[in-house]
Amino acid sequence: MKTIGLIGGMSWESSLEYYRIVNEVVKEKLGGLHSAKCIMYSVDFDEIATHQRQGKWDEATDLMIDAAQRVEKGGADFFLICTNTMHLMADEVANHVTIPLIHIVDVTAEAIEEQGIKTIGLLGTKFTMEEDFYKGRLIKNHGLEVLIPEEEEERDIIHDIIFSELCLGTIKQSSRDRFIAVMEKLAARGAEGIILGCTEIGFLTSDEDSPVPLFDTTKIHAEAAALLALND
Ligand code: GLU
Repeated sequence: MKTIGLIGGMSWESSLEYYRIVNEVVKEKLGGLHSAKCIMYSVDFDEIATHQRQGKWDEATDLMIDAAQRVEKGGADFFLICTNTMHLMADEVANHVTIPLIHIVDVTAEAIEEQGIKTIGLLGTKFTMEEDFYKGRLIKNHGLEVLIPEEEEERDIIHDIIFSELCLGTIKQSSRDRFIAVMEKLAARGAEGIILGCTEIGFLTSDEDSPVPLFDTTKIHAEAAALLALND
């Protein structure tokens, strides 16, 4: 079994899910007392979120490179950045280590492609929904058509719910209702599925809330890592 490297803490709530899922997949595949070999370096999310808010992406990149190097030194065979947003600097981080990065967009796109879906909705932080690093990769590398919520106000609400509730472990029905309304609008515009492109959204919504299939990036990313570790 290979050793999985995890850069976590963004938020630690969702890093727990990564840890749980990689272990559950290994247990399911190998049985008995088997568990995943993994190394997690968990950052202080406040430092990261402050850099994001202030647009200090170079500083945030330095922190991610440092984290990746620590994970590599710890003996990981490959690594994951356990957040969608911090894939903004994924290429640069990957260039500073010798172990491969399992990119969250690529494994998510593969899951979408397996279902024959061509038009996909995307929910996440404003950075993820609005910047090119995420949508661009889905479009250019995977040939998908990507829809994000049309109204800036809707994108602001989703972003705020992520940072002021979900990353703090707070789950509210009123926020779930807002997500449901946004997902219904995406589906009405032609989305055949929706990417939960933030590693905490799965705490709030599940398939029964959506008229179209949901692609939970936390689950997809962590499962892909466990299967790769097992060479499955
Ligand atoms: N976990 C969220 C994501 O997947 C937000 C955390 C962050 O800003 O890195 O994008």
